[in-house]
Amino acid sequence: MTSSNYRLISFQSALSIALILLSTVFIGCIELVYGAESKSVQIMVDQVGYLPASAKIAMVTASAKTFEVKRASDNATVFKGELAAAIQDADTGDSVQIADFSKLKESGTYYLDVPGVGKSWVFSIRPDVFSRTYYLAMRAFYGQRCGTAVDLGSEFPGYTHPACHLKGEFHASSGKQGERDNVGGWHDAGDYGRYVVNSGISTGTVLWTWEIFGSKLKNIKLNIPESGNGTPDILNEARWNLEWMLKMQDEDGGVWHKQTSEHFPGFVMPEDDHLPSEVIGTGQQPYKSTCATADLAAVAAIAARVYSPFDAKFASQNLEAARKAWLWTEKYPNVAFRNPPGISTGEYGDDSCSDERLWATAELWRTTHDKMYNEYFVKHYPDYRLSLDVPAPEGWRDLAAMALWTYALGTVKGSDSTLIKEIRTRTAQAAHAIVESTRKNPYRVSLRAKDYVWGSNGVAASYGMELLVANALAPDPSFTEAALDNLHYLLGRNAFSLSWVTQVGDNPYRHPHHRPSGADKNAEPWPGLLSGGPNAGRQDNVLKKLPAGLPPAKVYADDQGSYASNEIAINWQASLVFLLAATLP
Ligand SMILES: [Zn+2]
Repeated sequence: MTSSNYRLISFQSALSIALILLSTVFIGCIELVYGAESKSVQIMVDQVGYLPASAKIAMVTASAKTFEVKRASDNATVFKGELAAAIQDADTGDSVQIADFSKLKESGTYYLDVPGVGKSWVFSIRPDVFSRTYYLAMRAFYGQRCGTAVDLGSEFPGYTHPACHLKGEFHASSGKQGERDNVGGWHDAGDYGRYVVNSGISTGTVLWTWEIFGSKLKNIKLNIPESGNGTPDILNEARWNLEWMLKMQDEDGGVWHKQTSEHFPGFVMPEDDHLPSEVIGTGQQPYKSTCATADLAAVAAIAARVYSPFDAKFASQNLEAARKAWLWTEKYPNVAFRNPPGISTGEYGDDSCSDERLWATAELWRTTHDKMYNEYFVKHYPDYRLSLDVPAPEGWRDLAAMALWTYALGTVKGSDSTLIKEIRTRTAQAAHAIVESTRKNPYRVSLRAKDYVWGSNGVAASYGMELLVANALAPDPSFTEAALDNLHYLLGRNAFSLSWVTQVGDNPYRHPHHRPSGADKNAEPWPGLLSGGPNAGRQDNVLKKLPAGLPPAKVYADDQGSYASNEIAINWQASLVFLLAATLP
């Protein structure tokens, strides 16, 4: 499945490849032959669709004057409109015209027909239009499960593998030796490592998804082994990773940073990766790291309140782990992690663990109402009050915003009401600024030129999450609309006219940097996985070979070898799930 070609979409014929190469230098109007239908990648729609009451906007990058929306079943025209004047977009280099068909509210399946340009991919308008995408995106976590056989069932025959990584052991850097029973968790990304820090933000985000949108989610069955056990499936799935995180805690309360092989395995199925799975520490006293320990404290504190109605014993196990982890971080407030000699898997390094500790203390306060956590939060809040003004591009490293938001979302008696007021105000101000820049962006995405970094699609989803948290704190319809805009971008309304979620939409990306997708015999990748997205940093050889001078939003290749632009990862997957959950009826 590997290819070094610069490809927007995978094509069979040399003619199509030639056409695509032309499109990269922006020549002419290109119409691609896709099956019997003629579809233009110069028309960008959300390939899943739009909510009936929300704005409905598409982009056209070929010069045209008018457009029609046609019903897919009989090609009847249901809406006619004029394209807005072209706007030059610096981030993509595209000249973009907006097609606004917001007035069309009738449920159905449609496509755009732009005379002289072609037809768009098919999309739907329905109140539950994103339900299937939510199901696939959330179920993708099940596909990442380690230490158990995985089978996506009759819906996706062939998407299966036997149990993997059943043996664990301590690496010398952990301060211990011998075997270690810690089967479980989610494979982090395209590789088979498991990292507490990235697990923290991912599991925390999934648990927040439940806390904020639980009423929409409680009856959604994910068809996972635990389905029907009386606990909502989103919590069943989160628990799989949480239990592994808890096992990464040592008796003294500290948490080892990660469990991976010494180096990345080849592109093999997980059960064929026989490199020892090792618990890796800092290599010297106290062996565990502060960021990992504080992350576990935060997530286990959330879990303690979230699981209490379903499994009181599990909830109290989490609370005990969270308190113990917090105490460890008081003793060791800043033990950073660096890969010890001989280890080359992901580092998730972080110079400051103070924001992780702030998040932990805020979640512990929200769960326990124990004054000492509030006192810590109030004392350290001034260091982070500005963190709401600038959204953090890499969620796993900068967690201060999570800390402040949870403090304000919690409404615990005894919380500092002045701080809560300030957090609400600053969050709303930041959200208004994001709305404004999103509206000005020709592709209606919140990303700015500097945001096209590693995992930029995750940054887009994080902007969406920030807008939705703002909406929870200070409701404003413009926040949810702009959050939806970021979802539309991920699902096809982007410069590539590509859905960045596998097996979703008419024209999804097909070559994720994801070992099971590369190593199995299935023609299509595992479903529901979000790609990392355009990355001007070009840290891999596929991106390095792209034409020089590409605008930042165009530095992307649908190529398995492009780990810097096409890898999947549980952290941006979690932000996608959060965004999708908000759209559900
Ligand atoms: Zn595994």
